Amino acid sequence: MIRYFQETSVLVLFSAFIFGCNSQENRESSEKEDLKQPNIIYIMSDDHAKNAISIYGSRLAEIAPTPNIDRIAKEGVLMNNVFVTNSICTPSRAAILTGQYSQLNGVYTLKDDFDNSSNHLGKLMQKAGYSTAVVGKWHLHTEPTGFDYYNVLPGQGLYNNPKLKEIGKPWKYHNKGGEVYKGYVTDVITDESIKWLDNRDKSKPFFLMSHHKAPHGLWEFAKRHEHLFTDEDIPEPNSLYENANHGPIKGERYGSSISDRYPRRNMLHQVTREGWPTGIIDTIGMTREEKIHSAYQKYVKDYLRTVAAIDENVGRILDYLDDNDLAKNTIVIYTSDQGQLLGEHDYFDKRWMYEESLSMPMVIRYPAMINPKQVNNDMVLNIDFAPTLLEFAGAEVPSKMQGRSFKSNLLGSTPTDWRTSMYYRYWMHMAHHYIPGHYGIRTKDYKLIFFYGLPLNRNGALSEITEPYWEFYDLKNDPKEMNNLYADEKYQTIIKELKAELLVKKKELKDTDESYPELMELRNKFWN
Ligand code: CA
Repeated sequence: MIRYFQETSVLVLFSAFIFGCNSQENRESSEKEDLKQPNIIYIMSDDHAKNAISIYGSRLAEIAPTPNIDRIAKEGVLMNNVFVTNSICTPSRAAILTGQYSQLNGVYTLKDDFDNSSNHLGKLMQKAGYSTAVVGKWHLHTEPTGFDYYNVLPGQGLYNNPKLKEIGKPWKYHNKGGEVYKGYVTDVITDESIKWLDNRDKSKPFFLMSHHKAPHGLWEFAKRHEHLFTDEDIPEPNSLYENANHGPIKGERYGSSISDRYPRRNMLHQVTREGWPTGIIDTIGMTREEKIHSAYQKYVKDYLRTVAAIDENVGRILDYLDDNDLAKNTIVIYTSDQGQLLGEHDYFDKRWMYEESLSMPMVIRYPAMINPKQVNNDMVLNIDFAPTLLEFAGAEVPSKMQGRSFKSNLLGSTPTDWRTSMYYRYWMHMAHHYIPGHYGIRTKDYKLIFFYGLPLNRNGALSEITEPYWEFYDLKNDPKEMNNLYADEKYQTIIKELKAELLVKKKELKDTDESYPELMELRNKFWN
């Protein structure tokens, strides 16, 4: 690319010298300038599972198509192996902006404030000459910095007639403040994103982060989608009837009923409970299996109805780019802050290192440089997003960022030393839904998870300690992670190697556990 830029500037100078600057040449030179610094629209939803995007071909693909998100992939790249480093809203957003893991950026849990004085992606894009904006869900507690314009939801925000907090007014902390915008939140966020695009400083390339609340729970769909799926039976995952027993905390440990210390985000505990926003289902007289079936149908239908509005609004953004002659030189990304379990193992929610919550959907289109219909299988992490966008913007990537640009991967050339394993860590031990603190390593074929079960004094973590527990999955033969083979003789050599690699990763990523003596003590006892 460097050679191309040099040729471009020579060509521009030559044209200006010989022929003078007529409008044709101006157009040509500005088109090539655009190539140097593409516009970027980063659309990120909240808790959108890969399984709920039809181009990924899951059990839901036929019944719940997402033609507009799919269109981005068909005209660009479908990313198959994108993973979150800490599967929960606030930490993932901080990792995306800083290009760093939680242990470096300081946002470990939902309770931690983002350090808005840090030199994050927004600020670096501003410095690179971009006009920058963030619209929609923010969830980082402190006031957005690095954006010429912001209009963000307080906290989680509301599905109907949401409030938004606009730049220029006194900032009220996290979930406070804002003015009411009439309408459905996904439409409102797109309206405000398009409004900013219309009014932006057109002398600069733009970087817009358009962040949706949907499909985050609890699910309230737009009125126009209430008819969807009414007479249909949504396909179920095979693991739906596991009674939320997958993982370290078994129901029987706390009694056979759903107790306060049971992973709570399961079908029976929450979907059938009062307070479900679209009404509770009548399960009187049903068997336990029938109840789980009904609860699953209710949950997934509500979820997919909120996804329908997301897909429509992605279409509105693509139409806007077409109508304004911006499609070619604009990078469009669609992703989510993490994945989501959609009834797999009888769970919903994220947090777990299981595939459905660890995986992030990602499709990218950039017609000026990226050929259509590409599929990329490289292991990409959310900490790689900032370095990648900075490289596309022609800006330097700060060395303190732990992620790596995957620009050349997108252009069809994966570096030979690209990562072959990834490190994951969930810190918010037992908070809200009783999922223990854990970390692990995932390679192409295997996954090893250590549930250490300690609060480690992290904000919001529960003080209750859970028993240490290991899980190992052979992803090639068991992609749905149905069988924990940690004790299987056949895999002991591989498990040993993975443990060693996990420690190397932890050292590399400055997360050695040495500042947590209680965890080091536990490791000494339970590592082998
Ligand atoms: Ca989220």
